[in-house]
Amino acid sequence: MAPTPSPPFSAPVPALRDRPAAAASHPPTGILGVAVLGSTGSIGRSTLEVIATSGGRFRPHLLAAHTSVGPLLDQARLHRPAWIVVTDAAAAATIGADALPAGTRLAVGPEALDDLVGAPEVDRVVSAIVGAAGLRSTLAALDAGKTVALANKETLVMAGALVMRLAAARGAVLLPVDSEHSAIHQALRTGTADEVVRVILTASGGPFRTRSRESLAGVTPEEALCHPTWSMGPKITIDSATMMNKALELIEARWLFDLPPEKLAVVVHPQSVVHSMVEFVDGSVIAQLSPPDMKLPIQYALSHPHRLDGPARRLDFLAGLRLDFEPPDPVRFPSLRLGHEAAARGGTAGAVLNAANEEAVGAFLAGKMRFTGIADACSRVLDGHAYQADPSLDDIRRLDAWARQEVVKWVSA
Ligand code: NDP
Ligand code: MG
Repeated sequence: MAPTPSPPFSAPVPALRDRPAAAASHPPTGILGVAVLGSTGSIGRSTLEVIATSGGRFRPHLLAAHTSVGPLLDQARLHRPAWIVVTDAAAAATIGADALPAGTRLAVGPEALDDLVGAPEVDRVVSAIVGAAGLRSTLAALDAGKTVALANKETLVMAGALVMRLAAARGAVLLPVDSEHSAIHQALRTGTADEVVRVILTASGGPFRTRSRESLAGVTPEEALCHPTWSMGPKITIDSATMMNKALELIEARWLFDLPPEKLAVVVHPQSVVHSMVEFVDGSVIAQLSPPDMKLPIQYALSHPHRLDGPARRLDFLAGLRLDFEPPDPVRFPSLRLGHEAAARGGTAGAVLNAANEEAVGAFLAGKMRFTGIADACSRVLDGHAYQADPSLDDIRRLDAWARQEVVKWVSA
């Protein structure tokens, strides 16, 4: 089970922007040791590309995957980390004695990962495991006082209040990798908290932005896995198609930046060049622009408070750049309403929504649920759960399991 940290969980939730930035010196000095959790995934692979092109500023200390043993060993041979961790014991058992490169050791299981993320050689932890499975190692890293580059949005969706309290209690720092939150983080640096009027998250609208509600019921997993602007892992790609990804990101932003939910808005921006915006009291709107390429927000979270040259694509203003914006359609994409609701309710709402969604996405990918059934199932489970305003980690785990069972029952009914 996940480590059970013992922070003062009743303390007020601190805002990310209120915390002191790491001591800044320019140019940055010293080599930072990085633990990449989920190194075989889309974010993990992009992280290794950022590290490989950093001119030695970052050194991979630990790479972790679940079952992708072959790709993980390839990464180990290329990047020579001190440790690789395979969280699935059966997959780890297939690794032969002579498969590891010299200087790399193997550890097995989630408990080993919890221990190793706290090692003194780890300066930054990239949390890029997909889904609820990413929560425990993120908690372990925060418990050890690490700086965490957070891609796993599910961590904050499930347990935002607990996570932010733990980070504050341990002096740990959370830096967003999600491109919208990275943009917001950058924009917030231009003003103070009480000057913020609105935070506007942009959404690509996904592959079905212009499809009718009726035609959405029949879309296939293959169609939903074709994202128009981003190349990502399968779960988040389906979330983008239902716009549940934006729903989860509203909740993520609410906790990460300690924002009142009524200050959060979503606008559809099909080109995915403006990654999000902050509107201040004087009417100024500060946006962050760049081509859709996760290497930039990953690098920002690794190099913060500095900026470095890097491998991310550059924006060409003279190559027919077009920026369109339109309102989201909550009728065709009802997930958005669920995101606003869960962000406003807090408590157990995020964990239940996240678990129901993970299970429903799995069912859709397995051909057992219609595309439009995902939001329907989530809505039903969210409405029917025994809400708690200030849950413990155990309460969250219990409701996570309950929500999954409810979706399974619904699928098999
Ligand atoms: P992928 O599916 O591409 O990769 C997932 C990674 O997690 C793999 O390394 C996988 O290992 C590992 N993993 C899966 N299950 C477990 C488990 N039970 N225990 C330990 N490790 C596990 O996902 P993405 O890279 O797309 O996304 C990762 C996270 O980042 C998600 O939370 C997503 O929402 C977030 N994110 C992703 C973006 C993107 O562009 N991809 C953008 C913004 C946020 P294995 O290969 O062995 O299965
Ligand atoms: Mg995002």
